[in-house]
Amino acid sequence: MRDYRDVSFWFDSLAESGQDEFTPRPPLSGDLSTGVCIVGGGLTGLWTAYYLKKADPTLSITVVEKEVVGFGASGRNGGWCSALFPRSTAALRRSYGDDAARAMRQAMIDTVDEVGRVVETEGVDCDYRKGGTIVFARDTVQRAAAVADVDAARDFGVDRLELVTAGSVDDPRARSLRASSSLAATFDPACARVHPGKLVRALAQVVEALGVRIAEKTEIVEWAPRRALYSGRGGEGLISCDALVIATEAYGAHLPGVGRRIMPLYSLMIATEPLSADVWDEIGIEHGMTFSDYRHLLVYGQRTADDRFAFGGRGARYHWGSSIQPGHDRVQRVFDHLERTLGDLFPAARGARVTHRWGGPLGVPRDWHATASFNPRTGVAFAGGYVGDGLSTTNLAGRTLADLIGGHSTELTALPWVNHLSPKWEPEPLRFVGANLGLVGTGAADLEESITGRRSLAARLLGPLTGH
Ligand SMILES: Cc1cc2nc3c(=O)[nH]c(=O)nc-3n(C[C@H](O)[C@H](O)[C@H](O)COP(=O)(O)OP(=O)(O)OC[C@H]3O[C@@H](n4cnc5c(N)ncnc54)[C@H](O)[C@@H]3O)c2cc1C
Repeated sequence: MRDYRDVSFWFDSLAESGQDEFTPRPPLSGDLSTGVCIVGGGLTGLWTAYYLKKADPTLSITVVEKEVVGFGASGRNGGWCSALFPRSTAALRRSYGDDAARAMRQAMIDTVDEVGRVVETEGVDCDYRKGGTIVFARDTVQRAAAVADVDAARDFGVDRLELVTAGSVDDPRARSLRASSSLAATFDPACARVHPGKLVRALAQVVEALGVRIAEKTEIVEWAPRRALYSGRGGEGLISCDALVIATEAYGAHLPGVGRRIMPLYSLMIATEPLSADVWDEIGIEHGMTFSDYRHLLVYGQRTADDRFAFGGRGARYHWGSSIQPGHDRVQRVFDHLERTLGDLFPAARGARVTHRWGGPLGVPRDWHATASFNPRTGVAFAGGYVGDGLSTTNLAGRTLADLIGGHSTELTALPWVNHLSPKWEPEPLRFVGANLGLVGTGAADLEESITGRRSLAARLLGPLTGH
């Protein structure tokens, strides 16, 4: 049997503390009928099950997971429960106008608190702490981008972004500015730090206690409106249902009917050994705070509840044919880059032993536009395309799908991402060439800015292709 500890530091820490052995739940066997069949036991699937069951406790719901709950990105991510949405505010305004863009931004900000509310009321211990996120600007080009972001947020009037330029020794944000030799930073209060492994594994227990059936080691191999064929440890069978929810994110690239609507792009992470209180004091990242910087090739980090850095970034290449393999989770070149970048950002952390290295696939739609959709005629629902912003967005998706499937018109079902259909990615070899050129271009943009001291032309050209 696969050792699920390998999935991430988060899973390993649950196993290490004896909280979870990852023994798979019983698989499906034989044909069955259920009200709602949810494909995928990640946060999208589980939040959808949670809100459906809260709305109608009599509804029969079956979640079908090909490995174990949280095996996908939900059990591997950086633990930023943020208000970020893959499509920028400017792009939302261009597409939908100001009122709809404002409603979308506000819904994302509220979602951070909604996750906090549910984990508290359901007694989910997942280290949720809302300490905001700080994004460092380490040169003049980055500082100009930070100032522009704060000005744009102030003009639009929804996100409460602040510019941090200095401050007293008592202000941890000012300490982190000095510790990272930054010229400035933006601070967004709408972000919480979580232990994603604890969140997703505990949420599964919560929905089970509400009466949802979760079958593991069972893969949906074919589907059509109101029916799905599965194959797994329990054999093969047919599921008949009133509604079918596709919640497979990056893995949808290999599911009939989704395929080229999503592209798996890998994000990789490292975790260090726990650091001393003195080091954290110098670094200025307090519990609950997450951090990043203004480079184009994204990096992101958090201080874990047990005082480690969990730090990740993009840069792993796209694999031909949207391949998803355990081997793609580990790329030494990217791990080395992450370790160097963390040491460069916080010299006080240099020399900290890296104890864990892992990664996983993000789901990237062609227009970087996440969606929550439902067709009442076919009974098919789909949510995903969150890129790297799914931890909280899955919660909004779950609430929205519950309203849509329940046939209710609400503020959530009126949000502009509802029923958005992204175009398909190009067939190979165009997809391979385009995706990897995009990655090279993003890395080159950082180099160009560090040499020229001006905003990169490559970054401006890539902007429209990456949701900006
Ligand atoms: C390294 C990394 C760091 C990230 N950091 C952050 C972050 O800090 N903040 C943030 O907001 N987002 C982050 N993300 C993104 C976020 O984790 C995802 O957007 C989110 O978890 C998606 O949840 P999901 O349930 O839609 O998909 P997943 O969690 O990927 O779940 C899909 C599930 O479906 C199952 N499945 C697939 N196909 C089938 C099938 N045919 N039959 C049955 N089951 C199937 C899979 O096994 C999987 O468990 C990160 C992602 C990664 C990989």
